[in-house]
Amino acid sequence: MTSRYAMLIDGDWVQASDGVFFGSANPATGEIWAEVPEATAEDVDRAVRAAHRTCYEGPWAAMTPSQRGQCLRRLGDLLSERSEHLGEIETRDSGKMFKETRWQAKYIAEFFHFYAGAADKIAGETLPIDKPDMFVFTNREPLGVIAAIVPWNSQLFLTAVKLGPALAAGNTVVLKTSEHAPAVILEFGKLIAEAGFPDGVVNIVTGHGDPCGQVLTSHPMVARVSFTGGPSAARHVIGNSANNFAQVSLELGGKSPFIVFADADLESAVNGSVAGIFGASGQSCVAGSRLIVHEDVADEFLKRMTEIAAGIRIGDPMAEDTEMGPLCTHGQIETIEREIARAQTEGAQLLCGGARAEAGPLFYQPTILECPSPDLDIVDTELFGPVLCVLRFRTETEALALANQSEHGLAAGIFTRDVARAHRMAQAVRAGIVWVNTYRAISPVAAFGGVKASGYGRESGFQAVYDYTRPKTVWMNLSEEPVANPFQMR
Ligand code: NDP
Repeated sequence: MTSRYAMLIDGDWVQASDGVFFGSANPATGEIWAEVPEATAEDVDRAVRAAHRTCYEGPWAAMTPSQRGQCLRRLGDLLSERSEHLGEIETRDSGKMFKETRWQAKYIAEFFHFYAGAADKIAGETLPIDKPDMFVFTNREPLGVIAAIVPWNSQLFLTAVKLGPALAAGNTVVLKTSEHAPAVILEFGKLIAEAGFPDGVVNIVTGHGDPCGQVLTSHPMVARVSFTGGPSAARHVIGNSANNFAQVSLELGGKSPFIVFADADLESAVNGSVAGIFGASGQSCVAGSRLIVHEDVADEFLKRMTEIAAGIRIGDPMAEDTEMGPLCTHGQIETIEREIARAQTEGAQLLCGGARAEAGPLFYQPTILECPSPDLDIVDTELFGPVLCVLRFRTETEALALANQSEHGLAAGIFTRDVARAHRMAQAVRAGIVWVNTYRAISPVAAFGGVKASGYGRESGFQAVYDYTRPKTVWMNLSEEPVANPFQMR
């Protein structure tokens, strides 16, 4: 039985203006389990206009920051209460394991709670101005309409890190879901009114990159685009901003180095690396997909890694004992196959995996590939799947050079017991997030984002709230004297 969804525009659940739907397939079974509206340019325009109106008129504009915070707190509570249901929908939609989506939905509540607390702490400042009789201060005002664009992996999480700070700061949002897994965000949208947000504060449109994403990010009423996805769509977003002057923040992919020194706690490092590359079937922007391991421990490390990888239980992402589910799209698996075949012709050696798994057409085996040189294309190509590229090193200088030989710079993992080396490496590695003796840890308190081709701007953390505001400078003349006529000399 196919579920049919509607989009959320100005508080109403609506179909596309031309009545067209598209299907969402369950990656584990291939079954089209949901149909969602294919938003037209007219629908997107209506959503942006509703968000714009709501930002400046009506109950949202009149709410105090504490009242906005209360809505966000309630939204977090509702998310936590419904985590089981939302996790199930996200798994059906994206193929991500239920164990993870259920846990994530519960934890995401913490992000809304964090930003609920932040709403009434967004303050301006008074300025020690260099003019007599002037009192000058700044207010932090919302930017206006935020276009939030999310990819299919971890959509709830990526939605939370955009919505939390944007709404705390008093903006309104038009969110575009991924075409590959649109239903979970529409389910989440049902909580918006229940949490007490007025109509039009959060609008959700479903559709493809073109026209839906294009029209949204080029709309003249959009003040900021918060984009998470790949580099190609990101370039369109940047191009569009040349016309509407919207601010842009980009969270793009990575090929993150996972560096293991000879003095590392090997068990911990192996487990960290397994989680870093095979968690979420490698479909994670922060996947630790480039293992850079010291020559002295490399053989032992890879022996343990391949044993674990070969034993990973692949199958139904809803089952509690499954350890790896499917990939989300056919395109990904085809890219992986093509890149691995090419790397092998260039001398890369398969240590395990390297083929589709039996569970179904979108399942791929955990794969470890030893690469003779960092210059192989696969070493710096994001595959978004369970494929680990391995490079060996002898010295710290060499490890650092390998880590930084990348177009990307999202995250890095460093495993060592030497504190001074950990600090040296953490400073020198060019990445937005560095994990030492741990991997993939996140928190609403900590900023998240990359450098180089991994994007710019930061999400999460308190600073994110300020990024969704602009200062307004107010000059007050306190003098009793009349303002002098500039054309009459005294
Ligand atoms: P895409 O870049 O293809 O899509 C991301 C979003 O952009 C989707 O909603 C997509 O719509 C939309 N989009 C596509 N074209 C346009 C356009 N011209 N204008 C506006 N929006 C557009 O990425 P994927 O869905 O393939 O997601 C995987 C990528 O996301 C990886 O590179 C991954 O690393 C990155 N990512 C980054 C994270 C981070 O925090 N740094 C976190 C998670 C993922 P549609 O779905 O309809 O194509």
